[in-house]
Amino acid sequence: MSAISEFSCESCGSLVQVEAHLRTAACPYCASPAVIERPLEAGRPAPLFVLGFVVPHERALAEARRWIRRRWFVPEALRKAKVESIRGIYVPSYLFSAAADASYTAQIGENYTETYTTTNSKGQTVTRTRTRTEWRSLSGRYAAYVSDIVVTASRGISNHELEGVEPFDLRALHRYTPRLLSGWIAEEASLPAEQCRELAVSESMTEIQRRVAAHLPGDKQRNLQVQAHLNDIEQELLLVPVYVLPVRYGDDEVVRILVNGQTAKVHSKLPRSWTKITVIIILVVILAAIGGYLATRS
Ligand SMILES: [Zn+2]
Repeated sequence: MSAISEFSCESCGSLVQVEAHLRTAACPYCASPAVIERPLEAGRPAPLFVLGFVVPHERALAEARRWIRRRWFVPEALRKAKVESIRGIYVPSYLFSAAADASYTAQIGENYTETYTTTNSKGQTVTRTRTRTEWRSLSGRYAAYVSDIVVTASRGISNHELEGVEPFDLRALHRYTPRLLSGWIAEEASLPAEQCRELAVSESMTEIQRRVAAHLPGDKQRNLQVQAHLNDIEQELLLVPVYVLPVRYGDDEVVRILVNGQTAKVHSKLPRSWTKITVIIILVVILAAIGGYLATRS
């Protein structure tokens, strides 16, 4: 990368690096103009891995536009907002792996069919069957290796948002070289590593819980309690390719559409227009009333 400058966003806290010719007047994450240029700090850890962009800019833009157009219930100001400033950003994240040693307790249900006799509405005795479940307690240990957990290291994009465009195809992992970032915006890891680790541990626990549940026998299960210890934790800095489209509309509202730069998967949590929803409900009620009226006349 040649002639890099770095700026921090006062609005969302991101730390973005751009080549001089890509410099923008607004934050690529939140479109806030409150960006301050700052000197590059030396000695910060360089990313170990990079996932490259596969989806071209035009396609990401087209996917984002299609996504907005299909959302009927978003505020009109948002649907009409200009969808132009989509930027490809190498978002800092951590690739996390650990060996998990878990113990669990659960109740396992086995279904069986029971035959019984009853009296029907005509007073006759009939034989019927019903499914019953017999519950028993089960406890055990479960050892597993969790890997490929990706969590945000960016203040600009929450982990929840990043999960929205996951998964990334980690088979395409490259060792980081600055050359790979040429022509793109990249962000420094702006969240503390310990905070990211907590996110990763929490995601790992969810994953272990899911795997234990899938591994349990029986027809049903309930009260699953899993306790896991994580060992051999590895947490490596990884840059992931994400197109970010911040849309400012109305009274300084910002929504953001993310497009996975590898798979073109789109994610956004768009606000709903209650005016539109109310109008639709009223129309449906009127149509139902007309329908009912016509039905009584025919
Ligand atoms: Zn920002």
